Amino acid sequence: MVAKEYKCELSWSASRAKEFERCKRDYWYSRYGFWGWWKERPRGEKFDMMVHKNLGSLPAFTGDVVHRAIERWFQFRQAGSTMSASELMEEAVNLFRSGWRQSSTDAWKEQPNKLTHLFEHHYGHEISKERTERARKLIEVATRYFCESPQLQVVRDTAPDSWLSVESLDTYQYLGTKVYAVPDFAYGENEKVHIWDWKTGKPREDDIFQLHTYALYACEKWQTDPEDITLYAAYLGEEQVQAIPVQIDKLSEAQDRMSTSLREMMDVHYDPDVDDLMMDHWPTSGAPEGCRFCRYKGICDGAAG
Ligand code: SF4
Repeated sequence: MVAKEYKCELSWSASRAKEFERCKRDYWYSRYGFWGWWKERPRGEKFDMMVHKNLGSLPAFTGDVVHRAIERWFQFRQAGSTMSASELMEEAVNLFRSGWRQSSTDAWKEQPNKLTHLFEHHYGHEISKERTERARKLIEVATRYFCESPQLQVVRDTAPDSWLSVESLDTYQYLGTKVYAVPDFAYGENEKVHIWDWKTGKPREDDIFQLHTYALYACEKWQTDPEDITLYAAYLGEEQVQAIPVQIDKLSEAQDRMSTSLREMMDVHYDPDVDDLMMDHWPTSGAPEGCRFCRYKGICDGAAG
């Protein structure tokens, strides 16, 4: 059987845009540096970059287990069953324990591109009891809020046949480029579309931008009129929901920002299998704060501090 040939294509998402803005070198490691690690014999630099690309921080990992547990909640619901707050919490805690085991032992090495490998374990940063307790508390609050809060009643009551999307990774074409969209949950009702995003951090301005990129996705995917879309940022750990009815001018602003970001990425995009590497395109940020928490700090020649 002939092995499938992958091509390093440009694609855009709100999180990739953030990476690109934060530090070009970080973006290069994540999008190009590791490219072809699966063909590298013997394993070397590319493999090492892939290992670093897969590092995640404790807060991001905690958020991920909450998302995966909620996805299970939807699977149960679709099957006609349900999960209580304590069952949802148990699901999330089990996912957390399993990921923690992979990361804190050498188990992650069996599939370094898939299994959990925490930044803190990799760099030998001590994880205090307070931090693990904070993670446990976040899981508890978020799962209870999801299952019991009046603000999320509408989500829990929505009939599965009106669901449009549950954590499904999808793409659409914009300016000839693949754009990723992963709305956590979307449903349609009376010609209106409601798009929800679960957040386990504190509210940030960028969350609203990301949600607007999902609104652009909804216009493309379900041919929804922008005015018929409502976005919801559900801050599960903060126990609050921000509802944002889409306005044309805000959506246009988001689209402009997306176009600018995409064009900047296009200008420097290259195919590592074919094109020469122009390292000048990928400067290091040199920002001490950014470097301190950057997963590539152990291999980056521009890491500050
Ligand atoms: S260590 Fe610093 S300079 Fe290097 S990729 Fe990370 S943020 Fe950029």
